[in-house]
This record gives sequence, structure tokens and C-alpha cells, in this order.
Amino acid sequence: MEAGASAPLKTRQMATATSGTRVVPGRGGAPKSGASWGAGRCRLSKVGAGRRPPPARVRVAVRLRPFLDETAGASEPPCVRAIDSCSLEVANWRNYQETLKYQFDAFYGERSSQQDIYAGSVQPILRHLLEGQNASVLAYGPTGAGKTHTMLGSPEQPGVIPRALMDLLQLTREEGAEGRPWALSVTMSYLEIYQEKVLDLLDPASGDLVIREDCRGNILIPGLTQRPITSFTDFERHFLPASGNRTVGATRLNRRSSRSHAVLLVKVDQRERLAPFRQREGKLYLIDLAGSEDNRRTGNQGLRLKESGAINTSLFVLGKVVDALNQGLPRVPYRDSKLTRLLQDSLGGSAHSILIANIAPERRFYLDTVSALNFAARSREVVNRPFTNESLQLHVLPPVKLSQKELLGPSEAKRARGCEEVEPGSPEPAAAPASASQRFSPLQKLSNMDPAMLERLLSLDRMLGSQGSQGTPLLNTPKRERMVLLKTVEEKDLEIERLKMKQKELEAKVLAQEATEEEEKENSRSLLRPLSRHTVTVAKPLKKAVVMPLQLIQEQAASPHAEIHVLKKKGRKRKLKSLDASEPEEQKPEDCWELEISPELLAHGRQKILDLLNEGSTRDLRSLQRIGQKKAQLIVGWRELHGPFSQVEDLERVEGISAKQMESFLKANILGLAAGHRSGPS
Ligand code: ADP
Ligand code: MG
Repeated sequence: MEAGASAPLKTRQMATATSGTRVVPGRGGAPKSGASWGAGRCRLSKVGAGRRPPPARVRVAVRLRPFLDETAGASEPPCVRAIDSCSLEVANWRNYQETLKYQFDAFYGERSSQQDIYAGSVQPILRHLLEGQNASVLAYGPTGAGKTHTMLGSPEQPGVIPRALMDLLQLTREEGAEGRPWALSVTMSYLEIYQEKVLDLLDPASGDLVIREDCRGNILIPGLTQRPITSFTDFERHFLPASGNRTVGATRLNRRSSRSHAVLLVKVDQRERLAPFRQREGKLYLIDLAGSEDNRRTGNQGLRLKESGAINTSLFVLGKVVDALNQGLPRVPYRDSKLTRLLQDSLGGSAHSILIANIAPERRFYLDTVSALNFAARSREVVNRPFTNESLQLHVLPPVKLSQKELLGPSEAKRARGCEEVEPGSPEPAAAPASASQRFSPLQKLSNMDPAMLERLLSLDRMLGSQGSQGTPLLNTPKRERMVLLKTVEEKDLEIERLKMKQKELEAKVLAQEATEEEEKENSRSLLRPLSRHTVTVAKPLKKAVVMPLQLIQEQAASPHAEIHVLKKKGRKRKLKSLDASEPEEQKPEDCWELEISPELLAHGRQKILDLLNEGSTRDLRSLQRIGQKKAQLIVGWRELHGPFSQVEDLERVEGISAKQMESFLKANILGLAAGHRSGPS
């Protein structure tokens, strides 16, 4: 590798905690900040779109593995020494006076256990997944330094991957339990990058897959197999055979050297159970990188040489990406290798990232160790900007386009449903989709349905249920329940009929009463306005309340001769307040209202509109409701061509203004202008 090989051997301090933090400007092309994504065409949005998400530096831990040959430690001292829990020094075995000192976020010595590394550096970032944020763990280092041991481990000493999966599944079970606000589901994908080809380890027959970036800057691989997992047994069932598909080969440094970069992707999907039905998606990348190869020491030839060329290239590009980010270069060469393209999220992107640099104590690893530590120190200066990946679930199901492989095949879906049911002796509760899945309409081919879609339908169903919707039933209600429901509906209909009849009777009574009162009023020549008394009626179908335009409320209250405007609004459930103190407030929210204005005010309002139409400039016209720049110009043009408007209704003759628009224009303007008359000259 670069740098380290030619680095001068003198004492120097590298990558201190404080100096390491630097805000990396947005990279060219792929947007990083919420602001730039928020303006996109996507339906999905981010929490805090418009604000730049706070920075989170890539965290770097270094792990020193023990001597593999226990006797070796006695004959040669390790070339790496711990200073404290975060710092180490590398000694030049030719001159022990010269050392390189490094400081990282954590340093794990040769006696550290798998649990130490996991609990100290990996476990803390898992919670971000439940916040809908991304996280990445990368194992880096020379071949034979312990990357696979750290990530995968052995049955006796399980590594980061099994521990993280165990915890994550436990966490999602707890957080997604019935009664909690979010329903959670976990899926896994597993791939390797071998000789610049992206291969699906869960479906080894598939060829090289392409890496794409969606409109939100998310990196995705269309066609990559995703398996739903609800328990650790599930995970193992998919992961273990897939690991066997990984390309490995024997080199002199490692009998089973990983010849590819292996990427395990775990997705945590969250769907809010109640309105506003938000969705969140958090992705966890667990990456075991192939080691850098020094062909003189690995003895590589032929295919191995070609492989190591590809590995070195991608790791070299990885170094360039880190440097470009640190220097704030406008172009970050993510696209120069498949590995860096995939890691776009993890380095300088939106993930909480942790790099575990694995190093070996043996003298023969010296150059690779220095080189790995230099890379780790540079990576520590990379700043990511994690954000919450959140979207709102529309009430109407959007057409979801899923690639063929994202949709589960019939057998797979069956298996997935089976997994979601409680396995005997398993602590996992049955997930919601499985428990309700049989209730779906037979038209819906469940076996072909994506579990995410299934969950979406279920939440829609729950929502309809909670709102008592009478819409087209989504679920296939069993016959007996359906009969009961139909009976209830029938009874409700009868009840409504009965109420309607009763209302009609009451209306007739009220009309008769009104007629009598009217007569009495005529006789007594009362000065009271008729409407002010009618509002007291209880059973009138269209009840009336006295309202005034908002700006007049105070004047009206002060004036003893207040004119009365009656607002009767049909079909709108709006609660209105009476301004007349003498009038009881007996309106109920479910009442209907219509607009009535005294004829005098109406006439005045119309006249004012007419005056404006005939004399007003484009700007004056725009002060009217429903008249924008375009319509104002049309009106002025019409006036110039045909002369003044003789009545407001002439507006309909203006090309581009329909009768309906004219009507809504009148409704919108007349009350305001009539009010203008009451409050004095406008
Ligand atoms: P890499 O993946 O970096 O090429 P491996 O993880 O395969 O290296 O490790 C090489 C060898 O060293 C393996 O036999 C592994 O079991 C052993 N090893 C690595 N790290 C440790 C450790 N921390 N403790 C004990 N053995 C280790
Ligand atoms: Mg390995």
C-alpha cells in the first residue's frame, strides 16, 4: 500500500481527537445534506429536510491480534505497543528509538476479547438504526491481521456480525411489540465484491449486479436478494450457507484468505402503527474487507495475482476517497471502484461509521501495519452527516414497483410467513403480518406479496378499522362475521330512516310556528329583524348564526344598530359564533349553514366590484379574491375591447373565466366588499 512504506520513521503524533474533526463540504454529484435532497422530486422526505444534519465523524478503532504462534512472541517482541486505551505506538525494529504514535477512538490490545470490541465500538451505533439512520462497520487491515475473526469470529468466539444481529433482532422485537407505536421488520442481504463484480451470496447463480443511487442519494443494488429475518435462527439459516459461497483462497499469509470484500446488509424497516403512519428505514452495513496484498509475500501468481490486483485497486481507491474527503475536493472518486461506490454512504455520507483497523504484531507485518494505521488515521478525519430516513405513508396505496427479486417467490413468502409465526420454544412473538395475513382478500396473492407491502396493507386496514370506514373492504372477512356486519349496517340504515322522518315532522311544526310568529310580528310592527329571532329555533334544518367579517367584530359589538349578516353554509361542518349578545348560542357543529346578506349590502358589494372591474388597474383587480395576474390582465383586455362591464355577471364573457369561476369569485368577494361599505369608505 501507499504512504506507510515510505513514511519517515520518526516520532510523530497522528489523528488526535480534536484535530480530526473537520466538516467536509458536500461532495459533487451526490447530495449529502437534507436541504439538497428535500427539494427533490421524491415523495419521501427526510426528517429535518432543509437543515444540514449534524456531523458525525467516522470513528476508528484499532485491534491488535495476538501472535498466532505462541512461541513467536518470546523470540521477537511485538512491533506494536499500547500506550493507553486509545493510543499505541509502532516501533521500528531496526531502531527502537524511532516510534510512530497514533491516537484513535479506541485501541484493543492482543488480550482484548470479541465482546470488548463489540460492546466498546459497535453496540453503541446500533440504536441509530431504530432512529431510521444508517450505520456501517468496516474491518480493514492486511491479510491475516484478523478482520474475519473480528467480524465473523468462530462458534466459540462469535464476532461482531452474530453479536450485532442478535442484539438488533432483540431490539426490534422489543420496540416493535404489539402496543408499541412502531411495527418493525428486519431483512438481510449478503454480497461480495470479487474482481470488481458484485455477486449476490444469497443467490450465487445471479451474475454481476449494478450499484445505483436513488434520488435521495441512497446507494442501492437492484435485484439483490433480501430475506426477512425475525430470529437469529432465521439469520443463520440464510447466512451460513451464503458464507460458504464466499470466494476464498489459500495464500502464504492465510490458509483461507478472503479474496473478496464481503458486505452484509441488514435493513430495519419501521412503520408507525397510528397516524401519521410514518415510515423509517435504517441500514446497517457489516463489511469484511479483503486484505491488501503484497504479492512478494503472498506468493501470488496467475488468478491470485489478478485477484490481488483488483483488491489492491479498490483499496487504493478507498484511500483516494478518504483523502478527497479530507481535502474537501469537489470530486470524490466513489465511482472508481465498486467498493467505494457501495461505501459512499459510509464514508462522507449519511451513516454512523466505525472502521476497525486490524493489525498484527509480527515483524513481517511491519509495513502493512504502518500502512493500515496511516489509512485509519486519515479515515478518522472523515465527517459524515447522518440523518433520519423518514417518509410519510400515504393513505392511498401508491403503486409500488419492486424488482422481480425483491418480490418473494411463493415458497419464500410461505417460509417468511412461517417464520413470523411463533416457533415452538422460540421467544419471538408472532409478527403482525402473519397473524392477520389470512384475512386478506383472496384477490390479493399473498404468496407474491412483499412483506413490506403486506405490512402497509395491514396498517391501512387498521386505519380504516379505527375510522369505521364503510369503504371497499380490504380484508376477506369470514362469512359469519360478514353476516353480522351486514345486519348491523341494515339496522343503522333503518335508524337513519326513522331519524329522517322525525326531522321532517319537526320541520313542519317549526314552519307552522314561524308563520304564526310572522303574523304576530306584522301586527305588532316590531322593529326586530325577523332573522334575529328565528335563530332560536331548535329543530330547524338549516340553522343560522350571526357572523361578521373578522375585521369588523369589534365595531359590530360596539354598535347598537349592528346590521346582521347571516352565514348559512351548506354541507360544511363549521362551528360559528353568534355576535349578537341577545342571541343564544345553540348551534351545534353538525349544523349546516348558508350565506345570506342583506340586499342593500349585497347591492353595494356588487356595485363596488363593478366599479373595480371597469376602472381598476391590473393591480387593483388583483386585490380581489380569486383574481391573479393572468385573470386581471384578461379583464383589462376585455374592457379595452368591449367597453365597460354593465353587470358583474359580464365577467363570464371574458375568455378564460368560466361561469363556475365567476360564481366562486362573487361568493368570495361580495361579503368583504359589502363589509367595506359598513366599515366606511374603503
Ligand atoms: P484476515 O481476515 O484479516 O485475513 P483472519 O481473521 O482470517 O484474518 O485471521 C487470521 C488468523 O488469525 C485466523 O486463524 C484467526 O483465527 C486468527 N486470529 C485473528 N485475530 C485473532 C484474535 N484476536 N485472537 C485469536 N486469533 C486470531
Ligand atoms: Mg479475512
